[in-house]
Amino acid sequence: MDKVILLRYGELFLKGRNRSYFEGALARNIKAALSPFDCKFSRTQNRYYVEEYSFEDEYAIVERLTKVFGLHSLSIAVKVKTDYEGIFAAAVDSAPYTGTFRVNVKRADKKLSMNSMQIAVEAGARILRARPELSVDLHDPDSVVNIDIRENGFTYIFGESVPCAGGMPVGTAGKGMLLLSGGFDSPVAGWRMAKRGVKVCAVHYHSYPHTSLQAKEKVVDLAKKLTPWCGDITLYVVPFTHIQEEIHLRCKAEFMITVMRRVMVRIAERLAEKEGCGCLITGESLGQVASQTMESITSTEDAVERLPVFRPLIAMDKTEILEQAERIDTYDISKQPFEDCCTVFLPRDPVIHPKLDEARAEEAKLEGEEQLIEEAAANAEILHLGERT
Ligand code: ATP
Ligand code: MG
Repeated sequence: MDKVILLRYGELFLKGRNRSYFEGALARNIKAALSPFDCKFSRTQNRYYVEEYSFEDEYAIVERLTKVFGLHSLSIAVKVKTDYEGIFAAAVDSAPYTGTFRVNVKRADKKLSMNSMQIAVEAGARILRARPELSVDLHDPDSVVNIDIRENGFTYIFGESVPCAGGMPVGTAGKGMLLLSGGFDSPVAGWRMAKRGVKVCAVHYHSYPHTSLQAKEKVVDLAKKLTPWCGDITLYVVPFTHIQEEIHLRCKAEFMITVMRRVMVRIAERLAEKEGCGCLITGESLGQVASQTMESITSTEDAVERLPVFRPLIAMDKTEILEQAERIDTYDISKQPFEDCCTVFLPRDPVIHPKLDEARAEEAKLEGEEQLIEEAAANAEILHLGERT
């Protein structure tokens, strides 16, 4: 009797010609997720299996697989050679301890003398004999004991399934450059795009020494937190102090944030193209703060020349975003007090509805903007973050 983890993926996105492309990407991502563990991974038809793992690793493997986008659910199954005694014994072992149950049988192996119904009835009877406190409910059971008799001479018996992350395999929808601050929103934004199959790279602007080194470490920690879902992340840490000082010196105080955002996306677009990214991603949410009104977003968008900007949180409430941050475990890092943007430069009354012409005119006051951008991009520190780095 061997333990096996059965993995299922959503079928919806697999229709049509792209099927093998999606399956290949998903298999690669699963293998990467399993790489720290000693186990065997295999694929047959519509199924993936993890076998030959040590029992101590089971929990960690399951936990890890629930973060692979594209997987829909998994079950821990018992694998037995197809013979009645083995099947019935495993069914009893997999039965719940309380409540109601039913037995589902799938029988691809037509050589057996009993049909599916007879096997289900016999398994049900044996379970009731072993656990008389249970009762059968065919229509709305608390638990299901599944018996899956395959053509290869093996039968898989399993109870509950564990929900996985769903979504699309990371890498199947292109690459995106995430503007990652230390706040609550942008990590959630990156996670949501990864769920749609986007491979995430990230850029963070830091204002050392006006902001602390811990502010940078916080962002590195956030990016690392995302890697079980997103895979390895290349993070550009861009020195932004000089640019902020220039903006502070030359532009109207109330346009500080507006111009800063425009320069940030210009640098991000440059790095995105270098990395082969097809979009920028931000954590903006409409109306959340002064820099996220429609006019502010328009003036930021205006500075991006070639790529679309995706804002997956645009219509989410802050409470929804925070709940999601808790679920993906970035909340506790984001709540650390280290500021990401230099507060000494922030005006008391930032313009809330900037006019586009004015935003452009303010940015135009920056002398040598092109060199400033080049310098910042060239001096970026590039970190390759993975689960084990
Ligand atoms: P967050 O919670 O993500 O920090 P926020 O609510 O604080 O967002 P803003 O400060 O207006 O909102 O930032 C809007 C978006 O701009 C962020 O979600 C992020 O994508 C990007 N951004 C802001 N500051 C930085 C930074 N220092 N480095 C990289 N991106 C940034
Ligand atoms: Mg922020």
